[in-house]
Amino acid sequence: MDQARAYSAASATSPLQPDTIQRRATTDTDVQIEILFCGVCHSDLHTVRNDWASFMPTVYPVVPGHEIVGRVTAVGPAVTRYAPGDLVGVGCLVDSDHTCAACQADREQFCPGGVFTYNSPDRHLGGVTYGGYSESIVVDERFVLRVPKNLDLAGVAPLLCAGITTYSPLRHWKVEAGQKVGVVGLGGLGHMGVKFARAFGAHVVVFTTSPAKAEDALRLGAHEVVDSRDPDAMAAHAGTFNFILDTVSAQHDLNAYLNLLTLDGNLTLVGAPNEPLPVASFALLFGRRSLSGSLIGGIAETQEMLDFCGEHGITADVEVIPIQQINEAYERMLRSDVKYRFSIDMASLRAG
Ligand code: NAP
Ligand code: ZN
Repeated sequence: MDQARAYSAASATSPLQPDTIQRRATTDTDVQIEILFCGVCHSDLHTVRNDWASFMPTVYPVVPGHEIVGRVTAVGPAVTRYAPGDLVGVGCLVDSDHTCAACQADREQFCPGGVFTYNSPDRHLGGVTYGGYSESIVVDERFVLRVPKNLDLAGVAPLLCAGITTYSPLRHWKVEAGQKVGVVGLGGLGHMGVKFARAFGAHVVVFTTSPAKAEDALRLGAHEVVDSRDPDAMAAHAGTFNFILDTVSAQHDLNAYLNLLTLDGNLTLVGAPNEPLPVASFALLFGRRSLSGSLIGGIAETQEMLDFCGEHGITADVEVIPIQQINEAYERMLRSDVKYRFSIDMASLRAG
């Protein structure tokens, strides 16, 4: 067993601060990774603040981080896919039961025995799993991803959650050229949703509560930007969208977006505010519209997404921060002031 430097929060009201955690010795099928960058997801903040107490209560201390990019430092004797020196990624999942219908269908994210990268029961050491705000991690090779060599690593890290969480529903709902697609909220997930929807050929419209982001939205690939707090601007798009991806992290009015869908249009939620969001039945009935959700993506699909990003030169737009600035980064994320993902340079942890 190894000790690793990390940042943890001791309670829902504590700041993240330096800590030391245990990492398991590599088992036969494990890959040991030196973490180079870790993206900062709004789910990290929800978990640290125990926002999801009613569904997934946080066990403290918590070490968040599930957008991990690093270099392999050691592998167990049965590992076949990776060798020391390889650049790799780890996302939100570190284990599953490998036998259920979801696992058989390469949808490990829906496995009832799935283990998340942090705040999940740790089958090896007891307690809960610890995430990527840390200098190292040990992960079964089946949950380790290959990172394209041609991409900037700080911008690759967010692909492991923000990337796959937007790629997967856009693929599932078969977004393609000729469709009109909305992305609600221009944060970490939203800006990746814009890049992918554009790469898949759709006409992309961003809905934002931050009109100052309009220019960036167009640069990121949107064709149009709508101030979602302007009822006239919203009404101008009524009944016209094939698909809308909602990435908003807080309470908001879903019906305003359902009314923008065309016949058989779908709105998929990936944003995860804790409180229920009221749905007006008539917003669904007229137009046979549907409302659904989506959770990250399976391992094979995550690899497909990373390979797609390698081929198309897609990465997240990041603000690289030292880990010492993580608490300030959380406050900025709460103010929707992120351009468009924080990526922690983990050299700062080793230096500190
Ligand atoms: P983020 O970077 O903070 O972006 C969220 C965006 O939502 C903000 O930038 C803002 O965009 C908009 N927003 C925030 N508060 C709002 C409000 N009160 N009303 C309307 N819009 C508001 O967060 P993120 O990392 O992209 O994550 C977004 C959500 O997805 C979180 O709830 C997170 O937990 C969840 N998530 C889900 C999955 C999954 O598998 N389903 C995976 C990862 C994350 P504008 O400034 O443009 O309005
Ligand atoms: Zn995430």
